Amino acid sequence: MDIFSHGLYGGVLTGRKSRKSFWTAFIFGISPDLFSFGIFTLSILLGFVSGPDWGSHAPDPSLIPNYVGILYDITHSLIVFSVAFLAVWLIRGKPMMEMLAWGFHVALDIFTHSFAFFPTPFLWPISNYKFDGHSWGTSEIFIPNVIALCSLYAWWWYKKSSFPNEKRNPKM
Ligand SMILES: [Zn+2]
Repeated sequence: MDIFSHGLYGGVLTGRKSRKSFWTAFIFGISPDLFSFGIFTLSILLGFVSGPDWGSHAPDPSLIPNYVGILYDITHSLIVFSVAFLAVWLIRGKPMMEMLAWGFHVALDIFTHSFAFFPTPFLWPISNYKFDGHSWGTSEIFIPNVIALCSLYAWWWYKKSSFPNEKRNPKM
């Protein structure tokens, strides 16, 4: 899925407690792409390297530098995510629910990336198995994605305003 949708899903699914919680979840939601393609995109924008033609189609994966693939393996692995989630749980003595946005990002990518461009290495480093999903760039995925996001945010908005007499968290 595109990075912006990942952030929005993270925020609405795991960050509804407060503004801080929302943005923490948003950052966790975008972080797998931020720390792989984001670094590459930044180096293109800063003029350090020239980038592939993104055009209307995904570019040839061979034009993407190796380190992006390595970072993609690490950030898009449910194994790495689980270890990090449990480690934070152990250190804090309670789970950090906003981190689940990271896991949800990977879960969503499994089904919305095809073999044509960066299928999700969700079992790395234990297994190389990848699922041949349906690209999020196609209208069959992108339009339902927008509808799902609008519905989730409408539901959240409705839930917050459906009981006006109840005392609400002023930060929300
Ligand atoms: Zn991703």
